[in-house]
Amino acid sequence: MFSSDRVYLVVDEIGVFLGRFAGRGFGYYKSLRNVVFDYDGVKAYFTRIQSDPYAPPSVFQIVVPGKIHGLKLKGYGKNDYLALSDYLYRRLYSESVKYRRKCGSGYSCFLGVPKPSPIMIYRSGAEIVGEDIVLRIFIGLPASGRRILVKPLNHILSVIIPRIINKFRNMYRCEEEIWERILYLRDYLYIQKLLEEENAVAFIANNSVLPRESSISQKPLANAVPFRVEDRFSREIRVPSGKTVYGLIIPRGLTVITGGGYHGKTTLLEALQDGIYPHIPGDGREYVVSRPRTVLVKAEDGRFIHRVDISSFIKKIPGGGDTRDFISRDASGSTSMAASINELVEVGVDNILLDEDTSATNLLYKDEYMSKLLYDDPITTITQLARSFTEKTRTNLVIVSSASSILLSKAGFIILMRNYKPTIRSRKEMGLVDKLPDKQYIPPRERRVFRGIRGVKKIRAKGSKLILKYVDGIVFELDLKNNPRIIENGQVKMIATILKWIIREKINGSTRELVETINNVFREKGFRGFTSMVPPDLGWVDGLDVAWTINRLYNVVFEKRPS
Ligand code: ADP
Ligand code: MG
Repeated sequence: MFSSDRVYLVVDEIGVFLGRFAGRGFGYYKSLRNVVFDYDGVKAYFTRIQSDPYAPPSVFQIVVPGKIHGLKLKGYGKNDYLALSDYLYRRLYSESVKYRRKCGSGYSCFLGVPKPSPIMIYRSGAEIVGEDIVLRIFIGLPASGRRILVKPLNHILSVIIPRIINKFRNMYRCEEEIWERILYLRDYLYIQKLLEEENAVAFIANNSVLPRESSISQKPLANAVPFRVEDRFSREIRVPSGKTVYGLIIPRGLTVITGGGYHGKTTLLEALQDGIYPHIPGDGREYVVSRPRTVLVKAEDGRFIHRVDISSFIKKIPGGGDTRDFISRDASGSTSMAASINELVEVGVDNILLDEDTSATNLLYKDEYMSKLLYDDPITTITQLARSFTEKTRTNLVIVSSASSILLSKAGFIILMRNYKPTIRSRKEMGLVDKLPDKQYIPPRERRVFRGIRGVKKIRAKGSKLILKYVDGIVFELDLKNNPRIIENGQVKMIATILKWIIREKINGSTRELVETINNVFREKGFRGFTSMVPPDLGWVDGLDVAWTINRLYNVVFEKRPS
């Protein structure tokens, strides 16, 4: 082993330096820790070195100083960095993916970062830190078995990395393209602000393309019918870029989306969920803008529930269980939905979306006859509570419903979908009579205070799943696919990272406080606020999604306080 002093290498010296790695065992790669590579003023170094070729690839960090990237960051506002770092990440992805190959055992010669989806979010692969662009990529250190392979490593470090870095020099050349995205992002945020002022749900611009190619592709569906609302419901918005956009504003209160099967109801609802994120040009959903705290709630049979007051929806469970302090390790469809909704009321959200396709229908509605027949039913339906719910919580509801007219008779706004074309109808026009008495919604009476997660040994993310190992031998899996706000696997990994931080730092408090704390730390410190070794594959999440996760984990401790 050479001395623990730092070694500085310029490109021409790399080949000679790596000579000493030839024929050695994999463990010798650890000595790369002391090496700083200097690519014409761009410093780069390994921040993590894998222990064998099958372990997750090593992490290489590249720092491009202001003088070299040449972007005039002084002219950028804080929010503009979102569009910028998203742009830089996409560039890093496309410039590195072409060099990705397999050369030896395991991850040997793997290179790059995960493929981004069309949403604009902060990703740890490309960040602005002060005046610098900080890039992080995976490099699979090459080996055959456990023998180091010098030649391919030399090729990566002396040829490929310089090529990638060159794409981040003199970036003022792409500033026009970057500014287009920044101006778009400003428009998006402006519309979001406008929605907040009206406490409205969302804006969907005419000509937006809502459907996707398939359930596993985020690409727009070819030949889709563009979204277009009738002229009399089309709102005109002058956005800061100077453009004027036209489209539908879904107002506050209870909105029902109805229509025949296969007419685009679910697609519209899912677009409202995705509208919490700005999208890249060409996506088709650029001007679908939703309030940031919009959550599509689904029935989740079997989920854990920790001391949630669901008594507004469900009075008494046959066979016991206090529904004001409801605990379950295997919830039913209706109790899971009731809990999910009240957990969101607890943290405070803007919109809750429900789809009859994925709901427990007995919580959604009950017709007049069934209401009489089941006079002793412990369930009070969302239909009966909706008015009082939206007034008391100031949370809007958008519900897809076509199987029963009863919910429509309560709606403040009805969107009728026909062949993917929306028409706006009033209850009067539809001849709907509201005969079912409203019931009073009572928000959770006590505040739940999060006190930690007991006995966690290990937390990791695998694809869309979180896997927690506990000291009692339990292995608990939570699939974040159940949370439709989560789009990229990097966001799942981010949640895992934040959970570890919460346990380490003993963060506790009400879920509302938790969300605020997480968002403040991210705003002030970025990814480094949660881990000292930032990997290349983290994606931003709102604290809300961490709370969403905690609410569903095994062995979570909540105390109750009067609110
Ligand atoms: P619903 O919920 O009303 O039953 P969906 O939203 O599931 O209908 O849509 C049914 C099918 O139609 C899906 O395959 C979807 O991709 C497609 N689709 C949805 N919106 C459009 C559109 N605007 N143009 C073309 N196809 C669409
Ligand atoms: Mg549907």
